[in-house]
Amino acid sequence: MTDARKLYVKSFGCQMNVYDSRRMADTLAPHGYIETGTAEDADLVILNTCHIREKAAEKVYSEIGRMRRLKEAAAAENRNLLIAVAGCVAQAEGEEIIRRAPAVDLVFGPQSYHRLPDLLVRAAQGERAIDTEFSADDKFGALAAPTAPAIRARGACAFVTVQEGCDKFCTFCVVPYTRGAELSRPVDGVVAEIELLAEAGVREVTLIGQNVNAYHGLGPDGRAWSLARLLQKVARVAGVERLRYTTSHPHDMDDDLIAAHRDLPKLMPQLHLPVQSGSDRILAAMKRRHTRADYLRIVERLRRACPSLALTSDFIVGFPGETEEDFAATLGLVTEVGFSGAFSFKYSPRPGTPGAEMAGQIDETIKSERLQILQHAIDASQAAFNRTCLGHSFDVLFERPGRHPGQLVGRSPYLQPVQVSAPQSLIGEIAAVTITEIGSNSLFGTLADRTEAGATAPTKTTLVATGA
Ligand code: SF4
Repeated sequence: MTDARKLYVKSFGCQMNVYDSRRMADTLAPHGYIETGTAEDADLVILNTCHIREKAAEKVYSEIGRMRRLKEAAAAENRNLLIAVAGCVAQAEGEEIIRRAPAVDLVFGPQSYHRLPDLLVRAAQGERAIDTEFSADDKFGALAAPTAPAIRARGACAFVTVQEGCDKFCTFCVVPYTRGAELSRPVDGVVAEIELLAEAGVREVTLIGQNVNAYHGLGPDGRAWSLARLLQKVARVAGVERLRYTTSHPHDMDDDLIAAHRDLPKLMPQLHLPVQSGSDRILAAMKRRHTRADYLRIVERLRRACPSLALTSDFIVGFPGETEEDFAATLGLVTEVGFSGAFSFKYSPRPGTPGAEMAGQIDETIKSERLQILQHAIDASQAAFNRTCLGHSFDVLFERPGRHPGQLVGRSPYLQPVQVSAPQSLIGEIAAVTITEIGSNSLFGTLADRTEAGATAPTKTTLVATGA
């Protein structure tokens, strides 16, 4: 073991990047790196970048500029600060980053972090190392190898990547270009990782992937297993009390997965199911492979399987060619489904995607106006859903202390943050809570009699009754 060096990983973007950042830290722990919460005292800074949002590359260069100044300050104190750029921007712009940003010591893509120790050796020898090889297979193999770095739990909830990449090629999205083709981790490796996390105190596991319900990992029987089958297996891991999965594509919501929402009590009654638009014309231009009616049919089947299911979604406004009528169809869908929350964004062209070349790009002012109207509708839908929780009792998994002394923050089955006066000893535990107040960003409650939990969860019926 070498002298302890400090590692600061700054994660941008989605939960998959958060997961990768944690695995990078786990990979470097046996090499003497301990995590620090600030870049100022770090020996190695990793910027784990995301390419989804607008001007992603520019934001990365500006962050590199900030790190360059820290590197200069460290050099003045006779310290060497290494700067690494990882993730999807690194994958897309590897050579360009090396050319444009001399302060950067190494660049590696999302499929290369298991080779990080070797890259660091090369960087320490003065080489500006770059590794943007494109095989998630190698990485998943390395994660499952007997020599794999120990997985460390960080709290009661954990994300576990089970699938990467995407073959759908929606016309607005860069994921198929930055993360490559769909690839699923073998079942045994996923289960072994979750067993370790559960032993370390993890109670809630979220299986993640860019298109997680396209999962088709190799099972122990030599056949491809579906996500539903994987969920059934993971539900049997001792200590795991709650399961979720994200992000799903409507096209891949198969019968078994819908049935899992009825049959697996550990599968939480909350699902993130991006729809992107409520207009069939726009859905076709996006190449989403589903219509508005398909989406509504899936929602109906899911709610029949699990009447208390809360649905969240993603929306894009101002896709090329979107008319007022198309936008009205999106607004109508928000009202019709009654989402418990949603992310919404203005369309912004990603270089290299078909959408960027389409005619009928929408004026920024119109996009902003539509976004504001949509967000208002989503907020109203979310508030209506939250109101249905008032007076109900359900299980909350406590994750951390709250802002006020004696307060804990946990998550409801529907993923809402819940603040409760409760003893610290409940962190990492699940306890029944009765909701007494609805805040703008979280719910407030009191510890309830455990026997009440789950019995009075809000349902779509109660949501309709409150006028959503
Ligand atoms: S399914 Fe999701 S990840 Fe795949 S291309 Fe479409 S938006 Fe991107």
